[in-house]
Amino acid sequence: MEFLRDADIDAAPLEAKRVAILGYGNQGRAQALNLHDSGVDVVVGLRGGSGSAFEAESAGLTTALVEEAVRSADVVMMLAPDEIHAALYREIEPNLREGTALGFSHGLSIRFGFVEPRADLDVFLVAPKGPGTALRSLYRQGKGMIALWAVQQDATGHAREIALAYGKAIGCARAGLIASSFAEEAEADLFNEQAVVWGGVPELLIAGFETLVEAGFSPDVALLECVGELKLIADLIDERGIAGMKEAISNTAELGSVVGGKRIVDEGVRQRMRTILEDVRAGRFAEELREEEASGYPRLERARADARETLLEQTWRRLKDFEQ
Ligand code: NAP
Ligand code: MG
Repeated sequence: MEFLRDADIDAAPLEAKRVAILGYGNQGRAQALNLHDSGVDVVVGLRGGSGSAFEAESAGLTTALVEEAVRSADVVMMLAPDEIHAALYREIEPNLREGTALGFSHGLSIRFGFVEPRADLDVFLVAPKGPGTALRSLYRQGKGMIALWAVQQDATGHAREIALAYGKAIGCARAGLIASSFAEEAEADLFNEQAVVWGGVPELLIAGFETLVEAGFSPDVALLECVGELKLIADLIDERGIAGMKEAISNTAELGSVVGGKRIVDEGVRQRMRTILEDVRAGRFAEELREEEASGYPRLERARADARETLLEQTWRRLKDFEQ
């Protein structure tokens, strides 16, 4: 595995270049500010009337309309939501100068054909493995967040050095840049979101909470047990690995994890994980995402509304108020 850090990477390929960041959301904000603090010439490209213009300018950044930002840039980073990349690319393509480097922080829109870049463009990926808020706060502490990187298209012969210099300028090479591909990053990322950390884990917490409440336990106790301890275990795994985490808990908890863990995550769960991975790789999830956007996000809005109304959520809010 190729693992690159700051000392292995030349910052020069971004010197005297202008980077346009399209989108000032979770990643756009963090990456634009990190680039700016690293001395890179950045312009944030926003749509007309964007509410983000004031915020970006107050933070000391230059902003412009998308069209103008793209026309002035040597590197254009696609940091608007994935499901609008197809429309956004169609809009910017006429203004991309020949040989521009087009960058992504997620492999999805290239892997699943939302964007088919012109042949004269360099196309690269720098995908930080965590949210923008953490990317920014780590940078400010002099640290970095690990990222995957890849080159999909090298029209100029400089795509690799630009990708690496970009990863360095947003602080990721302080932690490490790992070589991957758009396909590997996109598929693994979508799999994790659905099956493991963002899909599987919250559903496990909810199911545990509801099982205790259904059996007559108080919601407060059920919440403290099933939801409240997640941060503790996450920190332990981050610091010590899974084996080290198990050594840090009581023998009672450790034996409990041995007895119970594999009764829950059994072969049936693994089989369904394989099915999710197949759906991701066949492009079925990408199609669902495209349809969701095209129809105005009905599934996301319903899920958000439902989640806010649950007993778990009410209990969580009450305990948070009580803690303050
Ligand atoms: P996000 O927060 O949802 O992005 C919102 C931004 O996109 C806003 O500034 C919004 O503009 C802008 N935008 C929306 N539609 C636009 C349009 N038609 N034209 C121009 N700008 C538009 O996105 P995100 O979560 O940061 O994700 C960005 C990329 O980073 C995605 O590829 C994602 O997979 C990847 N990524 C994200 C994270 C994360 O931390 N969320 C982590 C790793 C990778 P307004 O300001 O005008 O509303
Ligand atoms: Mg992800």
